[in-house]
Amino acid sequence: MDFELENRIVTSNETSEDSEIEYSLRPKTLNEYIGQKKAKENLGVFIEAARGRGEALDHVLLYGPPGLGKTTLATVIANEMGVNIRTTSGPAIEKPGDLAALLTNLQPHDILFIDEIHRLSRSVEEILYPAMEDFNLDIIIGKGPSARSIQLELKKFTLIGATTRAGSLSAPLRDRFGVISRLEMYNTSELSEIVTRSAGILGIEIEPSGAEEIASRSRGTPRIANRLLKRVRDFAEIKADSVITRDVADKALKMLEVDDLGLDANDKRMLLTVINNFGGGPVGLDTLAATIGEEANTVEDVYEPYLMQIGFIYRTPRGRMVTKLAYDHFGIPFVENGSKSTNANYSIFDGE
Ligand code: ADP
Repeated sequence: MDFELENRIVTSNETSEDSEIEYSLRPKTLNEYIGQKKAKENLGVFIEAARGRGEALDHVLLYGPPGLGKTTLATVIANEMGVNIRTTSGPAIEKPGDLAALLTNLQPHDILFIDEIHRLSRSVEEILYPAMEDFNLDIIIGKGPSARSIQLELKKFTLIGATTRAGSLSAPLRDRFGVISRLEMYNTSELSEIVTRSAGILGIEIEPSGAEEIASRSRGTPRIANRLLKRVRDFAEIKADSVITRDVADKALKMLEVDDLGLDANDKRMLLTVINNFGGGPVGLDTLAATIGEEANTVEDVYEPYLMQIGFIYRTPRGRMVTKLAYDHFGIPFVENGSKSTNANYSIFDGE
């Protein structure tokens, strides 16, 4: 991750500062897990059914932008199922042998959580197929003429995969998940609840209006809400008797250059680049990323989901376009461009 992104206060990616407290703030049960009604309802039914039959839960794929609670939900599922969870990530599993070691150590019904599952290598992915389907492991030991293939039977386990981009998953992998849940961005009242809950755990005094102010500027993302809460607390301790009111939250966030909608200098730079350099678009993802000096993946996973959610940007087959709403936000007159298509055409899978 580049330096700027790591230091960006409204990044939805996890920073080193987050990991210290994320553990204590993570809900443990489905009841404590705020929002995501659809995913929770669905999973609740599957969990109850699996528990009733005394079986392992079907494999689950969770997808959605960073910071929405995929890892948290995986640990909640493990708690609800009363099983252990082993956590790893796609890039951390370098060789088929690494995955074999993880799988053979699982107890019956245990959960293996693979974050960023779209980044698994092909060779690792291939041994995952029979493991997920038949709980068999086919591995080749040795090299050259003395190489031999062995088969191991695995305990029945549950794989939970998380990805920011379900569209990058190969079809055979995607098809092996029995439950696929998309996590949605949170609305302001859900985020207020999360901020209030976190403030309670961290012993921070906050008024409902203060929680709402932080929530409305958190880009629909619990990770950002918790991070802004901590920054506002620091401000409140020094300047305002430690109590977070709406006014204190507003002043603190202004100082941190997070605007009313949660946009920071990076979002503004990206939107203004499309407006000023490309006449509002369409502009191709790679061109846009190169112009603002970011990775295309970062633009897609970190900047765009929220800007699309608030209707500032949309994807067309010819590239990204900025909407009138964004022009209005910056007070720039919007000129309807004949070549602009108003036909938002993006797929249900992020990143496609
Ligand atoms: P992801 O894996 O999608 O990047 P995480 O599960 O790490 O996101 O969530 C980031 C933080 O946000 C967690 O530490 C947790 O405190 C908080 N969080 C996420 N989802 C919820 C939720 N539904 N209710 C309360 N807090 C949440």
